Amino acid sequence: MARCEQCGNDYHKPLEITQGGQTHVFDSFECAITAMAPRCAVCDTRIVGHGLEGGDGAVYCCGHCAQRAGVKGRA
Ligand SMILES: [Zn+2]
Ligand SMILES: [Zn+2]
Repeated sequence: MARCEQCGNDYHKPLEITQGGQTHVFDSFECAITAMAPRCAVCDTRIVGHGLEGGDGAVYCCGHCAQRAGVKGRA
């Protein structure tokens, strides 16, 4: 049994996701995404796929947003 970090649900089949050496526990993908998915620096869309990373560490949902933020050559 493990308690979901996002919603507190005590679930018998928890998801464990390790990122950068830290393990997080969730009861569902929904909660994992809510807690861990980055948001686009331009339009605030939650990025569930790969997204695009700018040089400054910012993350964008698509090439259009990256271009709007001035990131060159990633679209
Ligand atoms: Zn949850
Ligand atoms: Zn965006």
